[in-house]
Amino acid sequence: MTPGDEVVVALDVGGTGMKCALVRPDGATVHAERHATDAARGPEAVVGTILDVAEGLAGKARADGLTPVACGIAVPGVVDEARGVAVWSANVGFRDVPLRDLARERLGLPTALGHDVRVGGLAEARLGAGRDAGHVLFVAIGTGIAAAHVVDGSAAVGAHGAAGEIGHILVRPDGPPCGCGRPGCLEAVASASAIGRRYAELSGAPATAAEVADRAVTGEPLAGQVWREAVEALADGLATGQALFDVATIVIGGGLAQAGPRLFDPLRTALRERLTFHREPRLVAAALGDEAGCLGAALLALDTLAKESR
Ligand SMILES: [Zn+2]
Repeated sequence: MTPGDEVVVALDVGGTGMKCALVRPDGATVHAERHATDAARGPEAVVGTILDVAEGLAGKARADGLTPVACGIAVPGVVDEARGVAVWSANVGFRDVPLRDLARERLGLPTALGHDVRVGGLAEARLGAGRDAGHVLFVAIGTGIAAAHVVDGSAAVGAHGAAGEIGHILVRPDGPPCGCGRPGCLEAVASASAIGRRYAELSGAPATAAEVADRAVTGEPLAGQVWREAVEALADGLATGQALFDVATIVIGGGLAQAGPRLFDPLRTALRERLTFHREPRLVAAALGDEAGCLGAALLALDTLAKESR
């Protein structure tokens, strides 16, 4: 067996879909496939699909002359990585699912369970836009906002598996209600969903965050106002992040990063305005797109493998 024959079975489970791949130890994807999560079926059925897909991928690897050496699974919500338990997830419906042990039993492979944004940050910090930075804050902005603080290639998990919830930093005490039950969280003001919602509320017409960004550029005052408010709130959140972590690079991922310079130019300026003695981090767009979670799940599995064999 040559090292090139080894692959990791990697799954990134989201509320609507699962991105799945066979990944080489150097981060190269040799096979990728997607499946529907269909979370409405309930958590037991979703777990069944995860195990079936993982087993199918391991079988495909062997059929192609490759050797599956580990399995990495990323899920959203609160994840206890040390125990391998999906503690809680709103959009997949997990409650204390021992997913790591279930996968290990089914596949007979060392398995790691990680949090989707944390492993996405791991991948961006080691293989993507934060490469060589050492200290990286990865912030995913989509329907929600979450972050991963990665130091020397390792993402902080937190004492309860809930580190990196930057979306629930309080930025506007009199702001709109957040899904967590409190008003004024960053996520309630500046996520892609919040931007669309705010524009609809003021204009009476529905719009996506991307449409708001487009209209802001063409000079529509209302869109400009909504976009500006979101950027200001994001800058508040990132300035707090920088005060806490003093990173070299902030990598922005998720749907909102697609706005490109329309987001990054004003956000960079607004962040600079908020920093006093803290050093300004490099602010860059994520490089791995929606593959980051899958690659990160593979990296986490390889890390676990290295620790176990030590
Ligand atoms: Zn919140």
